[in-house]
Amino acid sequence: MKNTNPKLKIMVILTIIILGFITILVIVNKPISETVNENTKNKSLNIKGQPTLGELNAPVTIVEFGDFKCPACKEWGEIILPQLEKDYIDTGKIKFSYINVMFHGEESKLTSLAAESVFKNFPNEYWDFHKNLFKMKHTETVTSEKILELAKENSNIDIDMLKIDIEQQTKNKEVIIDSELVKKHNIQQTPTIFINDIIITEPFNYENLKKVIENELKEVN
Ligand code: CA
Repeated sequence: MKNTNPKLKIMVILTIIILGFITILVIVNKPISETVNENTKNKSLNIKGQPTLGELNAPVTIVEFGDFKCPACKEWGEIILPQLEKDYIDTGKIKFSYINVMFHGEESKLTSLAAESVFKNFPNEYWDFHKNLFKMKHTETVTSEKILELAKENSNIDIDMLKIDIEQQTKNKEVIIDSELVKKHNIQQTPTIFINDIIITEPFNYENLKKVIENELKEVN
């Protein structure tokens, strides 16, 4: 019997070699993409000790890097945050944390010190106070007196204690922790919003936020 056609033999060998290369490429590519994911995970935002709204074991985390002196943050807190609360925070799907940014110098620092004090001493009053701090017009100069006036709207806050904490910068350590996070995550503008580890380029586009959230929720299910 005659042997198989040599041309056919070469074709078969070539096909096997090509298939082998493709297989190697697929195998080589896989660990690379996994490594990228690992790197992203390593840069996870540490929200330990930060005020957090919602259930602590909610599967998705949203973090705002915000400044009480920033008009866009005020707007985001008045327009977008209530929608997130209704759709995702109140339903236990996401938790929301806020980290202080001090792009407006001394005025940002005063409000941050006050916010950290209320969070530490009267945690149940924190989010109301947080919203009150944003009531200040960004054109008016922030002073301790103005902050204390706003704090009086929350009858459970001890105003004398808050006054001491602001004057003596009792919560400066917490403010420094926030500043270090700002540096670590290279925050350039406020509000900067993260959904898990994803930085959101259009924080006012609610439909887009929803898409990212839904996608992240799918990942954990
Ligand atoms: Ca903080």
